[in-house]
Amino acid sequence: MNRNPDKHKMSINPTVLVLPFPAQGHVNPLMTLSEKLVQHGCKVIFVNSDINHKRVVSSMVEQQHSIDESKIKLVSIPDGLGPDDDRHDWGKLCDAIRSTMPSALQKLIEDIHLNGDIRISFIIADFGMAWAFEVGTKFGIKGAMFFPMSATMFALFYNTPKLIDEGIINSDGLILTNKKTIRLSPNMSEMDIGTFFWLHLGDPLNTKGVFVFLGHCLRTLNLAEWWLCNTISELEPGVLNIVPKLLPIGPLLRSNDNTNATTRSMGQFWEEDLSCMNWLDQQPHGSVTYVAFGSITLFNQNQFDELALGLDLTNRPFLWIVRHDNKLTYPSEFQGHEGKLAEWAPQQKVLNHPAIACFVTHCGWNSTMEGLSNGVPLLCWPYIADQIYNKIHICDELKLGVGLNSDENGLVSRWEIKKKLDQLLSDENMRARSIKLKEKLMDNQIDSGQSLKNLNKLVKWLKE
Ligand code: UDP
Repeated sequence: MNRNPDKHKMSINPTVLVLPFPAQGHVNPLMTLSEKLVQHGCKVIFVNSDINHKRVVSSMVEQQHSIDESKIKLVSIPDGLGPDDDRHDWGKLCDAIRSTMPSALQKLIEDIHLNGDIRISFIIADFGMAWAFEVGTKFGIKGAMFFPMSATMFALFYNTPKLIDEGIINSDGLILTNKKTIRLSPNMSEMDIGTFFWLHLGDPLNTKGVFVFLGHCLRTLNLAEWWLCNTISELEPGVLNIVPKLLPIGPLLRSNDNTNATTRSMGQFWEEDLSCMNWLDQQPHGSVTYVAFGSITLFNQNQFDELALGLDLTNRPFLWIVRHDNKLTYPSEFQGHEGKLAEWAPQQKVLNHPAIACFVTHCGWNSTMEGLSNGVPLLCWPYIADQIYNKIHICDELKLGVGLNSDENGLVSRWEIKKKLDQLLSDENMRARSIKLKEKLMDNQIDSGQSLKNLNKLVKWLKE
């Protein structure tokens, strides 16, 4: 007989506190992971920053009634910045997070526990929120770190102390060596030093702040029992061997319920334009170029003009996502007859639609995983951070995409866009490779697949 019914109850439906770094590309995979935990009987308290919480809730206003708060409860804490501060000033954001969020999280957990009926039994925190494991330790709550970029990026971050010791970089992350490449392990391909994440954060002044922040994250990482990553071993051969604690659980995809075009995805900062799906239904199979650059990328007017006119030149249907914070005007010559424009799409559903032929992407890791999981070849147009390395990995190693060259003015011309799209769409070998990798990715999510086994292992552990 169970002598302690409360303990028994907690172990069957553990409550997991999930804490993403405050950015869309971090909220989405952790929301997907939360949904999977709920399917396994866990309850989730999902902690956004106040501003992102407001965005998530308002983007879902129409279907508020359908959020089952007993399964996923959305709550928030401040990120330490003012309402008008630039949240893409990464150095400033990281400083604010470290100085404000730990005490706010501690208070949130105290309040939840004081209120009585819920006890948090586990924390899943983004790598960028690894300070949360120190907070959890104060309450005796164990945790898992989730890394939302590639395992290769993790291996790079993890090896930064060694890179400093070897004189490759200094303690601010700046390059000291004349070498062009490094090899993190004999089983991994060479990595171009110029692609290091922290060297590509918009303003060079962000490099030091973010590099120091990464160091803080690394120092609290060992407090986490589990390290999880949105990848599969076949995608990044050799990498997982050098960090055996890092378990792949990818590809993290929402359940592909394309039959229900009215269901919105939880966690989106902007309302999904569901008319994209009706429009795709009217396009021939394998005909549409999907163009989307994630939640952060901003174009300048000249480059935006070239992209618009390049899409016109292709004479093929396109679905182009232009976020409203891209405050730009369409060039007067732009016709867009073949196209559909939207401000934010249900991207995973879009990529899973049979009308999609290829994806013009900034190579954010989520977009990369979503494109590859649907067997869609990629036209790679990286912008910042890990995207620079991801593009090289996709084009040169996986050979599942092509890159774009800039002209003498630093612009990717409309003709270059048309030329590369034509090249991508006529490459049957690339399409075949894409389909093959898609199968490997999907195999990881079936019962015998490594990623599903890892997730099941975590759930079993949570419930014990
Ligand atoms: N996304 C979306 N609709 C859009 C564009 C993007 O739902 O119109 C989602 C996409 O599915 C992905 C996330 O936004 O999950 C973007 O993450 P990613 O890592 O690709 O890029 P980031 O926004 O971090 O630069």
